[in-house]
Amino acid sequence: MVRSSDVRKTPTPGEWSQSLAPSGIGDRLHAFAAEIFPICRSITGNGVRETLSHIERIIPLERTEVATGTPVLDWAVPKEWTIRDAWIKNAAGERVVDFRACSLHVLNYSTPIRTRMSLQELKKNIFTLPEQPDLIPYRTSYYQERWGFCMTHNALQTLPEGEYEVCVDADLAPGSLSYAEHVHVGERDEEVLLQAHICHPSLANDNCSGIALLAHLAAAMHGLGTKYTYRFLFAPGTIGAITWLSRNYETSRRIKHGIVMSCVGDAGGPTYKRTWRGNSMIDRVMAHVLTHETLTANIVDFFPYGYDERQYNSPGFRLDVGLFQRSQFATFPEYHTSADNLDFIKPAHLEASMRMAAQAIEVLECDARYASTAPQGEPQLGRRGLYSAIGGDKDGYAKNMAMLWVMNMADGRHSLLDIAERAKLPFATVAGMAEALKESGLLVPA
Ligand code: ZN
Repeated sequence: MVRSSDVRKTPTPGEWSQSLAPSGIGDRLHAFAAEIFPICRSITGNGVRETLSHIERIIPLERTEVATGTPVLDWAVPKEWTIRDAWIKNAAGERVVDFRACSLHVLNYSTPIRTRMSLQELKKNIFTLPEQPDLIPYRTSYYQERWGFCMTHNALQTLPEGEYEVCVDADLAPGSLSYAEHVHVGERDEEVLLQAHICHPSLANDNCSGIALLAHLAAAMHGLGTKYTYRFLFAPGTIGAITWLSRNYETSRRIKHGIVMSCVGDAGGPTYKRTWRGNSMIDRVMAHVLTHETLTANIVDFFPYGYDERQYNSPGFRLDVGLFQRSQFATFPEYHTSADNLDFIKPAHLEASMRMAAQAIEVLECDARYASTAPQGEPQLGRRGLYSAIGGDKDGYAKNMAMLWVMNMADGRHSLLDIAERAKLPFATVAGMAEALKESGLLVPA
């Protein structure tokens, strides 16, 4: 296992956000998304491995290959798909549909074919979006073997009757499924799972954005001392998570909190989908972070459809793993079309998403219970220099309130997150004041 354990520094409350999501990081995330955008990924095959190689330029990975046919929970690892080229040529021999121009043009996981046919016959194997006639749809056929192409409805309308030559130069054959992990070792064995799916071809928000965010978050965590161990998992959707779970039951028991990340680069949301339990620590943490960071947070209850949170929350695992997105999947018109491109995601949104992920980690890392050493009546804060310490600070009012709330609730039973929720103040403000109060001797760890 790749383990980065040469720990140097533990940020104090308020520092995590800048340590893990430094300002300006959005440009790097966007550039990375642009690097991996053209690759034709699928649930298996070289597109996945090539994507992992790009991630490895940023962080070390431990890769796993699982052979086709291997039973994984109620499933089996499928055949490996290798795509080299795909096209439709007209009578003049010109490519009227060309995989080299856009990886979405081939039905993902298409079986190979090379033949000639009439336009009428060909149309049975072409997918378009009549409602969005300028966009190429993203379509897959993983579990039913068939061939096909995807193109804009407008382009299809311009094709004259006649004979066409079609070619999907691909193999669907025994091989393996690939996934990869990066583990940041903390003080505890208890783990936080952070996962992105790596099976979508040229779609920027879903999920080049999530891959970019997680890879850079793992890189930024390098050298930081953490309480929790962080497991970054890059796996194909559904079958990848199922394969990982089938081989990691013991590890899964150590996962205390988790977040699946996808669609984190657009202007919508932010959205957080709760865990099956609905009131787990990560649910509280994400709701707190998102509502303090924006006025537009959308916190939704668990439902058994979506990304890999549904595997982790299944009854045999019941791991507290939620889903973090900007716009919720399937709710934006660009979803699963060629309009989910590099213009659709923006550095500022990627950066804000990374900052929210960093703040969630800050809460997990810094939450603690304290007991007041002067619980009877209010302690005299001025005498201890605690008011003057924050004089003239533009956040002075919030800090004063945070101090009063911490002293009021430091009964050994309430955590800093409990206090932040009750006080309706950002966690970092509350945790920062608790540090100051601890130094003054008014608080002791409970
Ligand atoms: Zn998708």
